[in-house]
Amino acid sequence: MLSLTNPALLKSGSYIDGNWHQDNQHLGVRNPVNGELVHTIANANAQNVVTAVEAAKKAQKAWQQMPAANRAQLMRKWYDLMMQNQHDLGIILTAEQGKPLAEAKGEIAYGAAFIDWFSEEAKRVYGDTIPAPAGDKRIVVIKQPVGVVAAITPWNFPNAMIARKAAAALAAGCTFVVRPATQTPLSALAMAELAEQAGIPKGVFNVVVGDNARAMGQVLTTHPDIAKFTFTGSTAVGKSLISQCASTVKKVSMELGGNAPFIVFDDADIDAAVQGAIASKYRNAGQTCVCTNRIFVHSKIAEQFSEKFIAAVNQLTVGDGMQEGVQIGPMISKQAVDDVDTLVQQSIAEGAHLALGGERHPYGERYYKPTIMTQVSNQMAIACNEIFGPVTPIITFDDEQQVIAMANDTEYGLAAYFYSRDIGRIWRVAEALEYGMVGINEGIISNAAAPFGGVKQSGNGREGSMYGLDDYLEIKYLCMGGIDR
Ligand code: NAP
Repeated sequence: MLSLTNPALLKSGSYIDGNWHQDNQHLGVRNPVNGELVHTIANANAQNVVTAVEAAKKAQKAWQQMPAANRAQLMRKWYDLMMQNQHDLGIILTAEQGKPLAEAKGEIAYGAAFIDWFSEEAKRVYGDTIPAPAGDKRIVVIKQPVGVVAAITPWNFPNAMIARKAAAALAAGCTFVVRPATQTPLSALAMAELAEQAGIPKGVFNVVVGDNARAMGQVLTTHPDIAKFTFTGSTAVGKSLISQCASTVKKVSMELGGNAPFIVFDDADIDAAVQGAIASKYRNAGQTCVCTNRIFVHSKIAEQFSEKFIAAVNQLTVGDGMQEGVQIGPMISKQAVDDVDTLVQQSIAEGAHLALGGERHPYGERYYKPTIMTQVSNQMAIACNEIFGPVTPIITFDDEQQVIAMANDTEYGLAAYFYSRDIGRIWRVAEALEYGMVGINEGIISNAAAPFGGVKQSGNGREGSMYGLDDYLEIKYLCMGGIDR
């Protein structure tokens, strides 16, 4: 049993139309540290999703018509409650997802920051007037909410991936139905509890938790009352959901997989690059979409960088995320550990050198040792695939054009990082990298004020920032005629 200051945050089933669905409780949520049961919840089905969509449809007009300042106040209250309950929310998140508690609490603050940010943006949905080509006409542009928004989110950020979407949707005047990942429903339900406490009207924010992703996803991508579908997850699943959305021509935004390059030029501050690489690679045991996937180091400094990097990674503490000082927790499943190990063994067979780790960690079956491979080539499977685990391949390069070509040689385009102190190079490389986000002398780039999103097969749309509302708004053009009559 989780030890929470506010036990009301631990819910046992979906939140639909302001009601808690707690019958049919047989879906177990397990702690990835040891597989122990954390909580059992009601397992919702596709029909429950339909009910949630109908509730969201019913609630939408009133929510849209509520003055933006009032919507903003409710959202601000939601934000305050999330921060007041940050510790408990962190405990729930660590228990179901595994990341260290300090990181989990960081995720709560990060997710809440989007609610805060968009509570402000709600008040700034401005329109335009446009000079008309004819004297008797006037052109006015207003922006209106798209309507009901449906979302499917992954397990690696059980709070923030929902907050980033829901905050923008609610601020725009949309209502929202989310189906979180099967492994991490509790954080989503705790958010719903706080939304209810904040006074967000029933039907505006709905969370449907169940393990039949395909059937529930079918409703969320095809129901005619849903105007927009937003997804965070793998590129493979994202592609099939996009095609499902085609049948009703939904507005779609996608936050998909990545294969982030991290380039260290020979003029870089090597110590800063080591710290940046650790922060961007080993956070969440390497299970983030913006995690460094390939480190490229200039051959002149490769030895120096690798030595320092290996020494620093070797210091990372692996264990149960609930324990103070632990930096790397479990991976989400045994299958995830197996997949990472297969990539590591394959790259060794292809000629890579194992510099650190390279095997399962004795702490438990969902643990993998922080691993570093050198003598890797950009063609090896470990460099071409999203690793999604605590494993770093290091590739050397000799010149700027070559490393840009290698960095861009992937179907993905989410985040990239590089370290250099040459201002000319900084502009050239920043402009040449085919990625939606570029960290320059920085390994942690995401925050509510910045536009998060990818290009190529990493997705479309942006979350957060002054651009983040656009995906939830329709532009309506009003043509006013007969002005001179
Ligand atoms: P996933 O397999 O695509 O799952 C993501 C979500 O989709 C889960 O809720 C999952 O449900 C659901 N799902 C899976 N198959 C489905 C289907 N056929 N129909 C409807 N829903 C379906 O991704 P993952 O492996 O859990 O998450 C990691 C991936 O997410 C990585 O590729 C990572 O890069 C990406 N990601 C991207 C961002 C970003 O902002 N770009 C952020 C975080 C993660 P179940 O849980 O029931 O399987």
